[in-house]
Amino acid sequence: MQDLVIKPGLCTRCGTCVGSCPTTVLEIDQDHLWPWLVPGQTCNLCGLCVSSCPQLGVPFDELNKQVFGQVPASDEPKGVVRGYWVGKAADPELWQRGAAGGIASALSIALLESGWVDGVFHCGKSVEQPWKTVPKLSRTREEVLGNAGSHYSTVPINALLKDLKPHGSERFALVGTGCHIQGLRKLQQAGAKGRRVVITVGLFCGENKSPLATLHLLEEMGITDPAEVISFTHRWPGGGGAQAILRNGERRRVGYNFGANMWRLAPFFTTLGCSICLDYYAELSDISIGDYRKGENVVLSRSRQGMQLIEEGIRHGRLDLRPIEWATDTVRRKTDDFIFQLKQRRACTLLADRKARGLSAPDFGMQEKSVEELWRADANRLLFLFIRRVMAASWARQLAKALPAPWQYWLGALFMGAELGCPWPLAGPEPIKKRIE
Ligand SMILES: Cc1cc2nc3c(=O)[nH]c(=O)nc-3n(C[C@H](O)[C@H](O)[C@H](O)COP(=O)(O)OP(=O)(O)OC[C@H]3O[C@@H](n4cnc5c(N)ncnc54)[C@H](O)[C@@H]3O)c2cc1C
Repeated sequence: MQDLVIKPGLCTRCGTCVGSCPTTVLEIDQDHLWPWLVPGQTCNLCGLCVSSCPQLGVPFDELNKQVFGQVPASDEPKGVVRGYWVGKAADPELWQRGAAGGIASALSIALLESGWVDGVFHCGKSVEQPWKTVPKLSRTREEVLGNAGSHYSTVPINALLKDLKPHGSERFALVGTGCHIQGLRKLQQAGAKGRRVVITVGLFCGENKSPLATLHLLEEMGITDPAEVISFTHRWPGGGGAQAILRNGERRRVGYNFGANMWRLAPFFTTLGCSICLDYYAELSDISIGDYRKGENVVLSRSRQGMQLIEEGIRHGRLDLRPIEWATDTVRRKTDDFIFQLKQRRACTLLADRKARGLSAPDFGMQEKSVEELWRADANRLLFLFIRRVMAASWARQLAKALPAPWQYWLGALFMGAELGCPWPLAGPEPIKKRIE
């Protein structure tokens, strides 16, 4: 794992390698959340960590067939979908505490309270260090609620699968981003252990950031000792940005809203592993969820049981959802198609670049396009790659720390411009929005 995934920077810290390992040789390093080999332990070379790692390739078609009984059309980025919905959790407490409409938490609670599952693997904040995003197993409504909200930091949720008993009687759900679901599906292919997870909820994911981004935000708030933080959120209700509450009751905020924080920190803290991912819609999950309008979610049900869970949720008054026509819905056309295409351009270009340089590049087989299709002018692509490489260097990260936030914002804008394919003043950009029509 070290040489194949971690050293080349491909790891997304999903934790599947640790979750798959039948021995105690792999663990998560608690500071940086990387998997690491525990010194003095002997690996039995079973190969499960390698075969289940999503960053070594994901056979999407094969897995789609196994999970949903069909393969999506080759130009369909959303994967297999049976129903499209928008709305929110009917319970006002869930709605208020949720990242958008609280549907992910409402589904988790419905699964627990109906006895469908005994526990939900997802993520939340560390009790001792509340600014830190950690994997969690929730078994009650209160626990699910305590972990609601979006935490913009990579998190090895799948490491918790380590303790699953292959032939036990407990059943679980897993809520995570595309990489978590991919890792789980590969693990399920490999053996009985992963099959204790009987239903999955995937979150749309434009990109994620390393845990260093959170420490950076704390520094920007003037917090030198993270031990002073008793509560932290990346996104306070109403679309605001990061907020920390200190032991003395003081509230510190970063002067940027959530979107601007994502934007300006992306160049420095989004890892290569996340940047080469094409799975915006968490294609292999039973239900996928993203943001819709303020306070609402968009929900895709994919499997029969995903459909059943949504329909029961609506019938029992847990979910306040209405069906939509994806093709004609203007809200999601402005957001999801756009973010997906951005992600696709970024990932395909970086994957092609790695291949051209003889570096390892996972085969995702899905929605991979040739760079010629994605960039009209080669100069744009080269500028994108140049900016990308400069900003991924560790000295650039140090520089970012030293720069005042407005400078970071403009660097982020330059970087984003390059990703959008319109790095002025180069001629002939193909505005990505045009591709949506
Ligand atoms: C890193 C990241 C990037 C995202 N990018 C987009 C995007 O580009 N477009 C879009 O429409 N939506 C995106 N989302 C999804 C969005 O932020 C909401 O999570 C989603 O709309 C569900 O909202 P909710 O109100 O139902 O969630 P809630 O009811 O609040 O439940 C949120 C669930 O997500 C889990 N969770 C929180 N953080 C993480 C994490 N880092 N990794 C795994 N699981 C986590 C929690 O444990 C909880 O179970 C992203 C989410 C994450 C975590």
